[in-house]
Amino acid sequence: MLITVMGLVIAERDIGENDRFIDILTAEYGVVEIGVKGARKLTGKSNACTQLFSYAKFCFSKRADRYYLNSCEPVRSFYNLRLDMRKLALAGYFVEISKYCVTTGQSAKDVMSLLLNTLHMLSEGLRSEAFLKSVFEMRFMSEIGMLPQLIGCRDCYSYESDEMFFMIDRSCLLCGEHFYGRDFEENYYHVRLTKTVLHTLRFICLTDMKRLFNFKIGEGSQRLLNEVTEKYILAHLSRSFKTLDFYKKICEDETDIQ
Ligand SMILES: [Zn+2]
Repeated sequence: MLITVMGLVIAERDIGENDRFIDILTAEYGVVEIGVKGARKLTGKSNACTQLFSYAKFCFSKRADRYYLNSCEPVRSFYNLRLDMRKLALAGYFVEISKYCVTTGQSAKDVMSLLLNTLHMLSEGLRSEAFLKSVFEMRFMSEIGMLPQLIGCRDCYSYESDEMFFMIDRSCLLCGEHFYGRDFEENYYHVRLTKTVLHTLRFICLTDMKRLFNFKIGEGSQRLLNEVTEKYILAHLSRSFKTLDFYKKICEDETDIQ
């Protein structure tokens, strides 16, 4: 049986002398692993299609419980990512998260369009890296069903008190009164939000995908937003990501040089 599907290459590994396995993210089947025979000898478009971040139409068939590539037709390569080490590292983080969370056989339409839109924005330099990182982290978690409760305080449902705290580890908000009212303890995962950051978090989680990138945020708010979204994703996926550590290392090194 021949399967034809649009897919984005989110991982690649060479096997032996000639062969390659690629993982593609698809809207219909989630992540699919495909063997590419003689990949090292491929030239032109077949070679381009089987590289990381390539978006293409893949045609493959099943043999002995594995999928093997028959042909492919390139659509988009996000080539600009390769010209910038930081962008490349950040894109690597986005695809690592996707590979970790999306399983085979599960529809991934919304994750796929989030990832494609984010890579487009990053590759074309249409939004800052910090902006795209926080939008991707938070929206990704919502898309995979790990949306925090951001409507109001967990205890009194207050939508917007003078002070609002995000209990990142518990995925909920507390107003100032209920935050200070409990047995107070300093906690890395309990962060006081500004109104701007609270509104932005709600927007990222709940707005239509078409409008997701259509907002502006100041530098200070962006910093707080990034702290919150990164803590949220790492806390709830209960792990770290090498690609994220690498991206942050590059950013730090660049700051040291300046
Ligand atoms: Zn309250």
